[in-house]
Amino acid sequence: MKSIPTTALLSLLAVGSLAATTLQPDAEAQKKLTPDSVLEDLMAGNERYVEGKLSDPNVLPRVKKAVEGQFPKAYILSCVDSRVPVEQVFDQGIGDIFVGRVAGNVEGVDQLGSMEFASKVAGVKLVMVLGHEACGAVKGACDHVKMGNLTELLDEITPAVESVEGHEDRSSKNKEFVDEVIEANVRKTIADLRERSEVLAELEKDGAIKIVGGVYSLHDGKVTLLD
Ligand SMILES: [Zn+2]
Repeated sequence: MKSIPTTALLSLLAVGSLAATTLQPDAEAQKKLTPDSVLEDLMAGNERYVEGKLSDPNVLPRVKKAVEGQFPKAYILSCVDSRVPVEQVFDQGIGDIFVGRVAGNVEGVDQLGSMEFASKVAGVKLVMVLGHEACGAVKGACDHVKMGNLTELLDEITPAVESVEGHEDRSSKNKEFVDEVIEANVRKTIADLRERSEVLAELEKDGAIKIVGGVYSLHDGKVTLLD
């Protein structure tokens, strides 16, 4: 049998890995994913984003492939903030991730139901709650802002505000305080997901999914995972 030169093999491997990063997963590729491999994939994407090395979004081939169905990797619950473009932040494209967005990245029955669908039915392996630096919703909750339906939304963040101890200045003017509330709010949302969704809690217990939290820096675009 004719042997294949190493360089040819290497270029085949290169093409293979390029395809994997530029086209969305299909059913078979999704089956091979694990919560840890998905987290690693997202964090590697964030590193590319921070370095200004985003991959080719490969939009048209992905649009065509998307007709076959969706087999995404993760569900990311983010704030609505226009400065946090979630797909770009993790260098993901069409068909890669579900993104749920609501001011202050709090759960609510709509997000919970969406996450349950994404995890139990559509097969994602990871749920990430993503807070961000200088979150206006968190600042609003710190300042007890009241306005229309926003009042009720901000009420969901209030327990996180109250959970942060100390600080003489507990207003949005105190950046250190706001940073702590942002983190506490992500942790609170994660705890709520486990408490309010039997479906998610069970999937996590079985190791089918992982639920993690992170905070996005407006300064450099880096996502820092919370322990
Ligand atoms: Zn925000």
